[in-house]
Parts: sequence; C-alpha cells; structure tokens
Amino acid sequence: MDLLEYQGKQFFATFGIPVSDGEAVTDVDAAVAAADRVGYPVVVKAQVHVGGRGKAGGVKLASNADEAREHATNILGLDIKGHVVRTVWVEHATDIGEEYYASFTLDRSAKKHLGMLSAQGGVEIEAVAASDPDAIAKIWIDPVDGLTESAARAWVEAAKLNPAANDGAVEILLQLYRAYTEGDADLVEINPLVLTAEQKVHALDAKVTLDGNATYRHEGWDAYEATQVRDDREQAAKEAGLQYVGLDGSVGIIANGAGLAMSTLDVVNQVGGQAANFLDVGGGADADKFVAALGIIDNDARVRSIFINIFGGITRGEEVANGIITALERIDISSPIVIRLDGTNADEGRALLEPHLGDKLQMAPTMLEAARKAVELAGTANA
Ligand code: GDP
Ligand code: MN
Repeated sequence: MDLLEYQGKQFFATFGIPVSDGEAVTDVDAAVAAADRVGYPVVVKAQVHVGGRGKAGGVKLASNADEAREHATNILGLDIKGHVVRTVWVEHATDIGEEYYASFTLDRSAKKHLGMLSAQGGVEIEAVAASDPDAIAKIWIDPVDGLTESAARAWVEAAKLNPAANDGAVEILLQLYRAYTEGDADLVEINPLVLTAEQKVHALDAKVTLDGNATYRHEGWDAYEATQVRDDREQAAKEAGLQYVGLDGSVGIIANGAGLAMSTLDVVNQVGGQAANFLDVGGGADADKFVAALGIIDNDARVRSIFINIFGGITRGEEVANGIITALERIDISSPIVIRLDGTNADEGRALLEPHLGDKLQMAPTMLEAARKAVELAGTANA
C-alpha cells in the first residue's frame, strides 16, 4: 500500500523524523488559508501516488497569498502521468543547503535490509546509480541485529555528506530504520533529505510503501486505505476476494496458488508473451471464483487470450474442471482460453473438460505447451 507524501510525512513524524509543518487540502481557498497559517514562503505540492512531481509542475514555491492561490489553482486538477491531482499539501518552505537521498528496503537475495544513502539527492536515484554508482553508500542490515548507532555513523561517513549533516543524518537514519521495521513498511525513502541553511537535517519528501499484510495490527491504516487508487480491474478483484495485480501484457492468467501464478508469468514471458495480470484463485474450486476471475480478465481490453493453469492438490482435478465448466456456462468469454490441468486426479478432470473443447477452449498437456498456445492465440486473435 503506497502512501501519499503527506501521509508518509505524518507516518515519519510519529517516529520523530523532522518534517515541515503543513496541511492537506482539496480546494484553492483552503490552500490559501493553509498557506496563511503555516507562514510564507510555502511550497504547494501535488499529492499523487507517483514520483517526479517537481518536474511535472506539481511542486511550486509561493512567497505570498496571491502566488499560493495561483499555484493551487494550477496544481489541483493537473494530470501527472495519468494521476489527476485532487489534494495538495501546503507546507512551510525550507531554505535548502544541500539535497541528499536516503532509503531502506528489503534485499531479498541477501535476506537483509538494504539502506542506501547518497550525497546526490533531489534527482532520481536510478539516474545516480547509472551515472555514478559509487555515489551511493549501501549498508546491509541483519534484521535480527538491527541498525546500531556506530554502524549508522560509519555508513553516513562513507556517503561523504557535508560533515555538518553527519549527526543529524545518523539520528534520522536510526529513526527511519525504526519507521521501516516497527512501522511494517516495505519501502521508506526520503528524497531529498536536506541539510538546511540553518544546518539542520530535515525530510523534504516522503515515499512510503506499507506491507498490506500487516494492516490488521495498525488501526491507523484505514485512513491510508481510503485514499488508495486502484485501477478498475484491481478494485473488482479486491471485491471478489481474489489476489490480483494488473499488468500490461495480453495474456490473462488464472492459476491456483501464488507460486504457480508467478511461475506462469515467467513461462509466458519465456515463450515470448506478456501477462496481462497476476491472479491467484486460491484453493477450492468454487465456480463463483472462476466466474469473477474470468469476468475481470475478459473485461480487460488488453487481454487477447486466457491461460488457466491449475495444479490439483487438496482440491482434486475433477472439482476444478467442474468449477470451470459451470463458470463458462454462466458467462460468455470473448477471448480464447487454454487450460493446463495437472496434479491430483488430473485425468478425471481432463476427461470432464474434453467434451467442452473447441476453438474457444483448448487444453495442453504441459505448462510450457499451454503457455506457447496462449501466447500464439494472443498474437493472432482479433480484439
Ligand atoms: P518529487 O519531484 O515528486 O520527488 O517531489 P519533491 O517533494 O522531492 O520536490 C521536488 C523538488 O522541489 C525538491 O527536490 C526540491 O528541490 C524542491 N522543493 C521541495 N520542497 C522545497 C522547499 O521547501 N524549499 C525549496 N527551496 N525547494 C523545495
Ligand atoms: Mn522527491
């Protein structure tokens, strides 16, 4: 779950990280009132779930009420990479000395947390990584040991910030690590982390992704949930209780089990196709679930073929086959479907599907062959 900048700053503030005083508002008059209250100069900032707002005209300094009004008018309603601005955050402007970058995320292959710190902030970190990788100081943290003050200090020294920033940076990084771990975040990023003209270290931006699986233990997360923007496909899938992620390819995917769904994406990719989604129907063979899953996928204009990849386990092959057959009787699907059915009682399941096979419903004996067929159909089928 991605937070808006102002929510990220409120989240940071609960861990003691210094952020600027501000207000989130949804109309121009309220923006001017907020600016009057926090005191000029102010920054008017678009609140959207996408970065690069500054370059897109979504971050503007105002030194008086007229400018605040002008910027709020221009930014509210602005389209930033397909995200229309409905809320602006108005904060007291900071006098910037230097701009740095700081983040924590999980390095899955190292099985450790990864902290990144750079004296080159304010710009996209990917650009720094490409042009000057040595300018990013990295630290791998064992989650059991955590981040100690001495390790944080050595890391800060390696990043070669202005020495005047070192004490403040150590303090903020320790707080940020706590926000990341105790706050159940998957990613925390401050870009820019600034050294102000008054030699204070301060978070000027906030990017936070929370671990949705931890929602149950954080009452305050309801407010974040309310501002999530999902695409229509994701909204429908959430309502149907399906594990779904929308992607941009043309092969719709339905699999039982998250691991199998991920492998299916890989195999489709391996044979030259692109998945339109990730969808795990979970265990069981409920026809309602297949109806919902097929409906969401078939409604997606990107989809040209559908690959149903099932490995029977506790749920037996014939139960799954019956679920799919019932679902197909209940809804009319426009894209051709390829099924691969394996695992417990696969033969029985295949026998049940046999009489229903044709151009619109095909079967393949292996995952690889099914993927090839689905990718081929996605290439030839007309919209
Ligand atoms: P992003 O473009 O979406 O990453 O938005 P940021 O919040 O990072 O703002 C973009 C840029 O605007 C920053 O890198 C700063 O250079 C500038 N900026 C943001 N807030 C302030 C501020 O309080 N004072 C000044 N002088 N510049 C600011
Ligand atoms: Mn930024």
